[in-house]
Amino acid sequence: MTDAANTRRNEMLKEIGISPVWRLRDAPQAEAEVEASAPAAALTVREPEAPLAVQVVSRNADTGPVAGMDWPALKACVAECTACVLHAKRNKTVFGVGDENADWLFVGEGPGADEDAQGEPFVGQAGKLLDNMLAAIALKRGANVYIANIVKCRPPGNRNPQPEEAQACSAYLQRQIELIQPKIIIALGKVAAVNLLGRDASIASLRGQVHAYRGIPLIVTYHPAYLLRTLNDKAKAWEDLCFAVKTMADLQMSGAAAT
Ligand code: URA
Ligand code: SF4
Repeated sequence: MTDAANTRRNEMLKEIGISPVWRLRDAPQAEAEVEASAPAAALTVREPEAPLAVQVVSRNADTGPVAGMDWPALKACVAECTACVLHAKRNKTVFGVGDENADWLFVGEGPGADEDAQGEPFVGQAGKLLDNMLAAIALKRGANVYIANIVKCRPPGNRNPQPEEAQACSAYLQRQIELIQPKIIIALGKVAAVNLLGRDASIASLRGQVHAYRGIPLIVTYHPAYLLRTLNDKAKAWEDLCFAVKTMADLQMSGAAAT
């Protein structure tokens, strides 16, 4: 990493409230490894949290009209969608944004008020934090990164999406993922994690492991909006980001070895 890039990253870490205790080794890109001083045990030993009652409905969308759509058809379909009650109060659908060939896919829960007004995910306060989290690992919205949500329309009052709403919307995200073919998925928060994994579990129990969504490695971390309220967990989110960078580097190493 150049000095300028290093300074920028340290500024980002400061901004997201994380002192740069763990530094990424010099590396041109986000493929940097986590330095040996990172406490590896902290990634695996977790106090179990009381699981919240989230009902998970199994995923569908192998069939149906969405399955074979290209990007323009998919975007048009979401823009017109009335498949669940969330359509009634939305201003704009929030399809997703970024590099349609990204290696990194970040998945949130659903649009808030700012996103509903602008039609783009993570543009409010939580979005600013997400952008800073991305910058801290040398990533940038739109450049090898795609950002999407479990539901494309705003749940009124920012409530969690209901299982039937997430289910109704799941075919769109599934098709987005098929088209993007990301190398890694980062689930931001519990709603993203439980819906992508198809089972209920706490964030605490899911962090620090590589899960899979349809064969794609998936890592779970806290939602940026939660981190804005719970400053103490920002350091854990930083651990998760380092773990994701390390996982991506391992994937690229094993990919290179296989060719
Ligand atoms: N929270 C989310 O989960 N998604 C957004 O797009 C904005 C806030
Ligand atoms: Fe359609 Fe998804 Fe919006 Fe529901 S949330 S109306 S399924 S686009």
